[in-house]
Amino acid sequence: MRSHYCGQLNETMVDQTVTVCGWVHRRRDHGGVIFLDMRDRDGIAQIVVDPDTAEAFANADRARNEYVLRISGRVRLRPEGTQNPNMPTGLIEVLAKDVEVLNTAATPPFQLDEHGKVGEEVRLKHRYIDLRRPEMIEKLRLRSRISHSVRAYLEGQGFLDIETPILTRATPEGARDYLVPSRTHAGSFFALPQSPQLFKQLLMVSGFDRYYQIAKCFRDEDLRADRQPEFTQIDIEASFVEEEDIMSITERMVRNLFQEVLDVELPEFARMPYAEAMQRFGSDKPDLRIPLELTDVDDLMKDVDFKVFSGPANADDGRVAALKVKGGATLTRKEIDEYTKFVGIYGARGLAWIKVNERARGLEGLQSPIVKFMEGVVESLLDRVGAEDGDIIFFGADKTTIVNEALGALRVKLGEDLELYTAEWAPLWVVDFPMFEVDGNARLQALHHPFTAPSCDVETLKANPAEALSRAYDMVLNGTELGGGSIRIHDQAMQQSVLELLGIGEEEAREKFGFLLDALQYGAPPHGGLAFGLDRLVMLMSGARTIREVIAFPKTQSAACLMTDAPGEVNGEQLKELNIRLRQKAQAETSENPAE
Ligand code: ASP
Repeated sequence: MRSHYCGQLNETMVDQTVTVCGWVHRRRDHGGVIFLDMRDRDGIAQIVVDPDTAEAFANADRARNEYVLRISGRVRLRPEGTQNPNMPTGLIEVLAKDVEVLNTAATPPFQLDEHGKVGEEVRLKHRYIDLRRPEMIEKLRLRSRISHSVRAYLEGQGFLDIETPILTRATPEGARDYLVPSRTHAGSFFALPQSPQLFKQLLMVSGFDRYYQIAKCFRDEDLRADRQPEFTQIDIEASFVEEEDIMSITERMVRNLFQEVLDVELPEFARMPYAEAMQRFGSDKPDLRIPLELTDVDDLMKDVDFKVFSGPANADDGRVAALKVKGGATLTRKEIDEYTKFVGIYGARGLAWIKVNERARGLEGLQSPIVKFMEGVVESLLDRVGAEDGDIIFFGADKTTIVNEALGALRVKLGEDLELYTAEWAPLWVVDFPMFEVDGNARLQALHHPFTAPSCDVETLKANPAEALSRAYDMVLNGTELGGGSIRIHDQAMQQSVLELLGIGEEEAREKFGFLLDALQYGAPPHGGLAFGLDRLVMLMSGARTIREVIAFPKTQSAACLMTDAPGEVNGEQLKELNIRLRQKAQAETSENPAE
């Protein structure tokens, strides 16, 4: 139907007859001449319709925004003074000969260039219109280029693209499963995969050696953060490998991706043990663009006359840390109050601070609500953090986890607010993760997942599981975890021991992943892998603010699709086939409150 995309037209085509198809972006009536800005996925071109071409003119005259037209005409240079050098097609226009209305359009719920005036809900409800916006097309185009680059790279390295099932059993990644009732097996359910983890390991047992998949994963989590119930992973696994192999393959993949798609040469990837990341940045995904660090001051605060500090300084699970901000003494009282509120979100009960106005004047030169409690250690404290005139020092004193979270988040916020970034891109690998974390009930939980290999032997692991490190690694970019993975357990006895330590008994293990335990008996090679979050990667590379912006049809924070109205109710017949009877809402409420 067309000879060119609108966005492809340019001054080299002057005098050619072209045919374009697309949507009316804008229509202007200029005293007898009609101007149409025609839009398609490649851009916008200006069409001029003269009253001389009577039929074309009549059709252009009845066209409204978002009508679908097919236009043929001659390309010509725009008259002097009306050229728009900022637009790829800005030097030319098309003098229309034929204008055909292919379809009309009702008045859209919002004009494309006024999308900011409507809430995100309206945009999500009419996503097909929202996706007409050039910025949205650009993001999805970038997404397509990213997956293409990744595929081409991995194929080039001998990885095979193999699909794994969507209707499957639970795969433990630490979230709730989405369940699908089986019609043919009354009372039984499939689970949608939280990741292809177990299948990709089984493919290694089969000998495929190198696998990848751009895979949909499903996790029924509380969606407070910027998450989606279904998201996409670049999932990778390889056999006969060690940490260095997987890290080097995937690092080259990401370097190549940035080079190809953004023309960016990523700097060298730093490497940092988990413990160091927590110590220095309070986070296992530190944003290394921000030149701020946490400094331990527990030893100095053990004997101060200020319980808020001496308590955690003397407690086994406590931490007192300082965060010095160069030049931060200019922060106002109001700003400090805002930051105090901010750390409150992470459980901190306050935010102590010292402003260093003039160090040479000793205590006189400091301004702080707390310095009077620690006169004896102030000098050592200032030396330790390297304080200079004009700096502010913030403190966190609490349980270690709270201090890390609160000061870690404050560090990122200050970096953002005060624009402290020292680089555009700061990639790193975080390594040497603990194998387990201890939950509130003093039970061990896998920090990564239960199939991650420890870096010690079974005896050492069993003797002191809380101290054991794993062979896991995370790739972090600008404070975002791009991907994580590990070398896996390929030995059945080790797998069983890890499951036992996690409190998963033999029977439960058999029931949940007996197939994996079986497979490990039949010659499982050493193997390992990694998965990248594609949505997050595209978000970072496109500069989008949420992952919803880089997903064509995303769900809301409450895991619903406003456009299709999913999830929806189903009729009684379907439920019956599935052997499901719903609890009546009213009944459920009475049985939960029997006293009423
Ligand atoms: N399955 C893991 C995840 O989804 C990634 C991996 O270990 O490869 O986080």
